[in-house]
Amino acid sequence: MEKQLELYDVTIIGGGPVGLFTALYSGMREMKTKIIEFLPFLGGKVPYFYPEKIIRDVGGIAKISGIGLTEQLIEQAKTFDPTIILEQQATTLQKLENGNFIVRTQTGEEHYTRTIILATGFGALKTIKLGLPEAPVYEKTNLHYFVRERERFRGRKVIISGGGNTAIDWANELEPIAAEVSVVYRKDAFPAMESSVTKMQHSSVNIFTPYSITGLTGNGEAIAEITIENVKTGEQKILPLDDLIVNHGFEIDLGTISEWGCDMFDGVIKVDSTMQTSIPGIFAVGDIAYYPNKLHLIAGGFNEGPIAVNHAKQHIAPNEQLETLFSTNTDRFSD
Ligand SMILES: Cc1cc2nc3c(=O)[nH]c(=O)nc-3n(C[C@H](O)[C@H](O)[C@H](O)COP(=O)(O)OP(=O)(O)OC[C@H]3O[C@@H](n4cnc5c(N)ncnc54)[C@H](O)[C@@H]3O)c2cc1C
Repeated sequence: MEKQLELYDVTIIGGGPVGLFTALYSGMREMKTKIIEFLPFLGGKVPYFYPEKIIRDVGGIAKISGIGLTEQLIEQAKTFDPTIILEQQATTLQKLENGNFIVRTQTGEEHYTRTIILATGFGALKTIKLGLPEAPVYEKTNLHYFVRERERFRGRKVIISGGGNTAIDWANELEPIAAEVSVVYRKDAFPAMESSVTKMQHSSVNIFTPYSITGLTGNGEAIAEITIENVKTGEQKILPLDDLIVNHGFEIDLGTISEWGCDMFDGVIKVDSTMQTSIPGIFAVGDIAYYPNKLHLIAGGFNEGPIAVNHAKQHIAPNEQLETLFSTNTDRFSD
């Protein structure tokens, strides 16, 4: 079966911050590396949950936005040109007699590898989408499930659907720069931080509660207006817009990885001091890895990746010496 599949030394499952840094180190160790990521973009929780928030606890970087750190990590991860597969969720594992593995994804694709490093966070990040049949048509234009760059909405008429922290934070962030911001939420009270809700209520944001979106009208390319319905009275309103942002929450789905046979603890995967799981050749790093006193911080994952890579290398070539590798050299930066 493996005959036509290209064999990789390391397959990193999850392209979050820890998976990305692990890919750099794997490249430094001259391991043929592949990253498989479920989302259509790299960076994991950082661009997903806090693209514009400021991170201050990564060593050597006084402060950087989530998206800024993500861009740096992607550039760094690509240094040794790993294969990057997006929009695939690793689902099944097959261990072959020769000790290698085949990982299958939800698309049916197979990935052949000597070792695996799980960098899945707590699982695949799955956005809860707008439950209207016409919605997917507009996802490439003005129906947004993520806000990566607030400037994209400058001068635009924006409607946000949702009442949680993300929805309210974006309403407050976009209010000063958008032409108009409206929030549509199906309940009367917002389950978000009180101070953020108060700020929104005292701003120019138009609030529609308890309403939910029942229809999208557009030309097949972009939404021009939405229909909202009062969930108590059935009264309908038509609201014109330039952009619709839907923040209906998310699910975190570790899926079948929890059935691969790795010893687990409280929903995450136990590792030893080499970051190896209970299955030889499979390692775990970042939020998914459990050991006593584990910290769920990006900086912690940056240490775990190199440890896993070094031991993955030793798994492949047991006689190879385990060395600490430094990246410093005398090459001039090309830019
Ligand atoms: C709001 C918020 C603020 C935070 N602020 C900070 C901070 O300031 N400093 C800090 O250090 N930490 C912070 N954290 C924590 C930090 O974001 C996490 O510790 C870090 O993202 C973990 O990185 P990771 O790569 O292990 O996992 P993740 O970032 O979760 O990335 C895992 C990736 O794997 C993918 N994936 C999962 N399963 C599969 C599968 N089966 N197949 C393919 N892909 C899969 C996911 O889609 C995801 O993209 C914050 C977290 C949150 C939620």
